[in-house]
Amino acid sequence: MLPNSVMADDDPRRIDHIMAEVKKMVNVEGVRAVALNQIREAEDGDPFAILIGTILSQRTRDEVTVKATARLFNRYRNPAELARADEKAVSVLIKPVTYYGTKAESIIEVARQIVDRFGGSVPTKMDDLLTLPLVGRKTANCVLVYGFGIPAIPVDTHVHRISNRLDIVNTRTPEQTEIELARVLPQRYWLEINDLFVRFGQTTCRPVGPRCGVCLLRDDCRYYREVVLGKELSRHGSPTDKPWPSRTRSGWPRDIDRSR
Ligand code: SF4
Repeated sequence: MLPNSVMADDDPRRIDHIMAEVKKMVNVEGVRAVALNQIREAEDGDPFAILIGTILSQRTRDEVTVKATARLFNRYRNPAELARADEKAVSVLIKPVTYYGTKAESIIEVARQIVDRFGGSVPTKMDDLLTLPLVGRKTANCVLVYGFGIPAIPVDTHVHRISNRLDIVNTRTPEQTEIELARVLPQRYWLEINDLFVRFGQTTCRPVGPRCGVCLLRDDCRYYREVVLGKELSRHGSPTDKPWPSRTRSGWPRDIDRSR
């Protein structure tokens, strides 16, 4: 039993509905692929590029990660080449990735260990991946999903936040979210939940100022019910006390319609 964690709702039909609505919202023109899918496409699905790209992506914007990974793999094509690389040269190539100096040292060490301990191939087991420098559960799960197509659940801040807002889980940490999602999310969604929720989190269910006014999931959303509507009620009183504020063309009170 997880501490401080209560399963919110494990009705599979509700999860099917949520995943279908998120797909509708993100599979539209203008929504960019997540960084790891851009890297996977650029580097022909190379799991080593996914591993290094995921390490570079830690606390770094997608556009910066994608460009830095492309520059690095243009020069060093595989673990053997990167293992022999000069640290200063690597840090110049990956700059301005956050902590580029530390990351340069670490990715060279990752490459060395892959050559020395795993015969030059990225390991496919979680326990082995976790022995590499700067590789935690999120990074290891990203390698499994984006690098090998092995079902796993990479939980970053978007997946953690959105799963809680939508009442799929009720957890405090990404680690708890991964455990709960593994319990309630049908495995057919494991390969795509990170991609879908990251794009949904970047475009609609943003950390600050979520665009609830254009979201198809308001009726399923605990955050919308408790936080957004809660604020409106405390500001305007209950609908029986006072009239709602004037409505926008989308049918939502102007104050609630964050998209405007
Ligand atoms: S209603 Fe708002 S908070 Fe809820 S999922 Fe949609 S955008 Fe996110």
